[in-house]
Amino acid sequence: MQSKVSMDLLVCQSENGFSLDELVKKLSEAYENKAFSEFLRTILMLTQEVLIYRILNEKKNAMECCPEGHLTLNGSFKRNIRTSLGEFSMPFIRVRCSKCGKTFAPLQRFIGLERYQTKTNELEKLIVEAASETSYRRAVKEIERDGKLPVAV
Ligand SMILES: [Zn+2]
Repeated sequence: MQSKVSMDLLVCQSENGFSLDELVKKLSEAYENKAFSEFLRTILMLTQEVLIYRILNEKKNAMECCPEGHLTLNGSFKRNIRTSLGEFSMPFIRVRCSKCGKTFAPLQRFIGLERYQTKTNELEKLIVEAASETSYRRAVKEIERDGKLPVAV
């Protein structure tokens, strides 16, 4: 990819707001560069902001640890995430429970990414699906070749 499109900079870190024109321009750049991993990253950044906002403001739909525990910010860590849309680095904000002392990253829990997992399972799923589809087609051809009834594909 020639130019890195950082939509997250525009969307998440802009305190003075941004114009619709700027957003359209950034989106079209990302689209032209096929920077789909950048879209994904931006969505994850926004999701994380919502999760952290809920926790810090003790909203009733906020993620919890212990019933009487309070969650406070406890630093962050970066992790590379590999998906079929590309690879990107993602900062995960960590919180700590005042009751049991456990720490976890709300976003990591929310998206079901295990602690040391950096690669999503969807790639494996796609491969399995493609493989089973291929064998299905092959099976269909074999059935047709054998003079059995044609099967709708
Ligand atoms: Zn706890």
